[in-house]
Amino acid sequence: VEQIGIHDNFFELGGHSLLAMRVVSAVRRELKVELSIKELFIYSTIAALATHLNAAGKGGLFLPSIEAVSHRPVHIPLSFSQERLWFIDKLEGTIPYHIPAAWRLKGDLNKEALNQAFKEIVNRHEVLRTNIIDKEAEPSLLVMDAEGWDLHMVNDLWYSQSNENLQQRIHELASQPFNLSKDYMIRAHLIMLAEDENVLIVTLHHIAADGWSISVLVKELMELYNAYIERRPALLFPLPIQYGDYSLWQRNYLQGEVLKKKLTYWEHKLEGVAVLELPTDYLRPVERSNRGAVLRFSIDKILTDQLKALNRHEGTTLFMTMLAAFKILLHRYSGQEDICVGSPIANRTQKEIEDLIGFFINTLALRSKVKSDMSFKELLQQIRDTTVEAYEHQDVPFEKVVGAVVKERDMNRNPLFQVMLVMQNTPKVDTLYLGNIPLASEEFLHDTTHFDLSFSFSESGNSLNGSVEYSTDLYTEETIKRMVLHFKTLLGSIVKYPQQNIGLLPMLTKAEEHQLLIEFNDTATEYPKEKTIVDLFEDQALKTPDTVALVFEEEKLTYKELNEKSNQLAHYLKSKGVKEGILVPICIEKSVEMIIGILGILKAGGAYVPIDPVYPEDRISYMLEDTQAKIVVSSKKSEVLLPKKEGIEIVDVNGEWIMSRSELKDNTISTLAPNQLAYVIYTSGSTGKPKGVMITHGNVVSLVKGIDYISLTDKDILLSTGSSSFDATTFEYWGMLLNGGKLILCSEEILLNSELLKEELQKREVTAMWCTARWFDLLVDNDITVFEKLKILLVGGEKLSEKHIYKFRESYPSIKIINGYGPTENTTFSLTYDITQISDSIPVGRPLNNRSAYILDRQQQLVPIGVAGEICVGGAGLSAGYLTQPELTREKFVHHPFSNEASDRIYKTGDIGKWLPDGNIQYTGRIDDQVKIRGYRIELGEIESALLLSGQLHQAVIIAHNNKEGSKNLVGYVVPKGMFDKEKIITYLKSKLPEYM
Ligand code: AMP
Repeated sequence: VEQIGIHDNFFELGGHSLLAMRVVSAVRRELKVELSIKELFIYSTIAALATHLNAAGKGGLFLPSIEAVSHRPVHIPLSFSQERLWFIDKLEGTIPYHIPAAWRLKGDLNKEALNQAFKEIVNRHEVLRTNIIDKEAEPSLLVMDAEGWDLHMVNDLWYSQSNENLQQRIHELASQPFNLSKDYMIRAHLIMLAEDENVLIVTLHHIAADGWSISVLVKELMELYNAYIERRPALLFPLPIQYGDYSLWQRNYLQGEVLKKKLTYWEHKLEGVAVLELPTDYLRPVERSNRGAVLRFSIDKILTDQLKALNRHEGTTLFMTMLAAFKILLHRYSGQEDICVGSPIANRTQKEIEDLIGFFINTLALRSKVKSDMSFKELLQQIRDTTVEAYEHQDVPFEKVVGAVVKERDMNRNPLFQVMLVMQNTPKVDTLYLGNIPLASEEFLHDTTHFDLSFSFSESGNSLNGSVEYSTDLYTEETIKRMVLHFKTLLGSIVKYPQQNIGLLPMLTKAEEHQLLIEFNDTATEYPKEKTIVDLFEDQALKTPDTVALVFEEEKLTYKELNEKSNQLAHYLKSKGVKEGILVPICIEKSVEMIIGILGILKAGGAYVPIDPVYPEDRISYMLEDTQAKIVVSSKKSEVLLPKKEGIEIVDVNGEWIMSRSELKDNTISTLAPNQLAYVIYTSGSTGKPKGVMITHGNVVSLVKGIDYISLTDKDILLSTGSSSFDATTFEYWGMLLNGGKLILCSEEILLNSELLKEELQKREVTAMWCTARWFDLLVDNDITVFEKLKILLVGGEKLSEKHIYKFRESYPSIKIINGYGPTENTTFSLTYDITQISDSIPVGRPLNNRSAYILDRQQQLVPIGVAGEICVGGAGLSAGYLTQPELTREKFVHHPFSNEASDRIYKTGDIGKWLPDGNIQYTGRIDDQVKIRGYRIELGEIESALLLSGQLHQAVIIAHNNKEGSKNLVGYVVPKGMFDKEKIITYLKSKLPEYM
């Protein structure tokens, strides 16, 4: 044990398992005692270990030793790892598997000595002069002699002119492909920059080398060079075996029962392992390429010391701590709990191969359950056990593990794990010299990677050097820089609060927090926050009494007329007891009376509840009950559709006697305040009952006043197409009527016919319009010229189709097009994005003035830019909650986690999104199974509940199915009770649910 230089406390050792492995193999070899790595970790000091071994009276060898095969067969097999690489080489070419290294040599170099030293190395290590012959059914190794090998001299002064030129040349030399059936597996080039300055580039193929091999190579190169110039024999031990002996040994040993037993462990460990879904900057290509880049960083002495102290305390190695921190980072970035990370392991536990150049390195897939509510310490202990166990089973080649565990290969992802953590622990060669010339490492361009991400660390003095190799197919440098920052911040949090739940460990820097909370939400703007809809409308009617406010078919009302008519209704409603806080359902077909009705209710102090006359009776009944309505505003035409209920008076908005009382045309005197309810709009609820979202006057005003996502003036003419039960009408109605614009209501007939629609838009000189996303797609596909005369178009309600938006952008570059995003609960729009640029995916944008947005994880922590979380919105648009559902309100409208005001709330939208670096948000999907079907927001649970209530089914499952046209259909799977009559079920559903059925 002393011989290999172990400290008394094993855990003083940083790094990977290397020294552990060497202790174990030394004990096994020298003492002929079976010792597991786990035992080594349990009995963490040498004294405790010795006592344990004595007490256990252990004996027996672990791995059979490798011996030189004196009569080698004609067919020498490849090692398992070589075989895999050989396959990959056929598919991808060699470049991704080159191992290049470069050094700058300043001084009087003896080139012949260098050449001879290399030649001797090629001679000593057969693997460097071994080709792969694949004439037979199975490929085999064929050893050449070293004579043909030579150091290449590169002598062209062009390269010395600039560092870029030199870099380019190094890159070219290192990237020349290897022919595995013909070439030496090592190349060396000497670029002569000046008489006394050279750059040495050595390129090995991974099939014949690994990281460890570079240390062996450098050590031998120094000795052989020095021996040559000192004219003495080199002090190198003869190599007891060659790589071919190892591959024969491996093939012989790792088969049958031995292999099966070892594989069983891995199969058990890795069964069903999840694919890591980290957020990426670019869409993952169908087939992965090896394009990559490297970012370097360091971890300072203070933090490194703190990490080491933590290790001492926890009985773990630096690798384990880094792995735990890395897994937390991946967990926090992906939201996943099943996290598997790959890590290379030197796999040189046997003395015989320690000094060989060759491909011995193996990869371990280290899988952990990472849960937000476990403490760092808990995770670390779990990782320690996993790692130590994996060390015990390290000699099963990774390719065998993949073969046993992975049933279906995905061509654009690595199998078993997609990211790596590497703790460099190749033996250190102190200062490197060729004679008296120091070997100074030369940095060079690195542009390949085998993994999505690979974090790498090495100890350097008292600190740690880190680097991230990343796939440039997936990530930008900016994202990787942020990731490194988060990793470092996490490490800092870990040493400070090792007992803390990992979901709560601080990961963002103060500057990032400021950016997310303050800079991206810098939306405070003046707006008439003390005014109600009624105040603003009446002001407008005074200002522009004779301007046309409202149009439907042939009917027109000026602001004055609309004001007076709604006043008349308001006076009547007031006389019937309508006042502040009273909900008044309004069930009217599209008409000017519908707007008169709405305004009348508001002016009476009440809040309107739009009921679409096409709703099934059951749904209407439910809404009437839920609102405890005493009065319903309706029309002659729609009145008949209302269920007759005792105690409910139906007021005909057009009742002759209301409207003829001319003395009641004046404004009502109201005590309305901005925090009083303006309307309640119902949306789908998963329990089977829709929920009423309560919106105040102030909420509405903040949507259309003091805004900058759109400019609304008295020159605007807007065509409103939807039913008043859609919350987009909030924008349409009040966007126009509180800004002096002209509101045009569109009839059903026109809506369904793009020719008529185009005619209407042009005839009425419409300037602005809101479209739900799928309807927009349909219009673009059918007749894009519908929109040609518009000035501004808002599209949204669900994820936009890039294809359609871009077609529109190209056809009409001067029409402004805005992505409008937001739930009813935050009054129509929470975020908007002015689509000026073409990109892979259209963001939903940034918060409206006086509104705010946050992206949070399950612990309600801020997630960094680029990381997906739940979009939460708040500010002036935030609803007062759900009518009669305080519990659901508490669940969705939670305390604002970043506000000092106890009453501040934010709404959890259930939408998943991520911040882009410029402060826009990208929508990526839903947390739950809420979907949009033709603009309707539907919780699939609502339909399932309704189905079950039919009493005809045992079970029901509804899914939204994307059809070929890109829109969705609902598909139901049911377990019927007795005979199943599909038509009956559908009729039943139609009677229960709105028209989306
Ligand atoms: P609603 O309350 O009916 O307006 O529906 C709100 C939900 O529709 C949001 O929570 C989103 O899931 C979805 N949504 C609305 N606008 C957009 C948009 N522009 N892009 C993506 N999804 C949207």
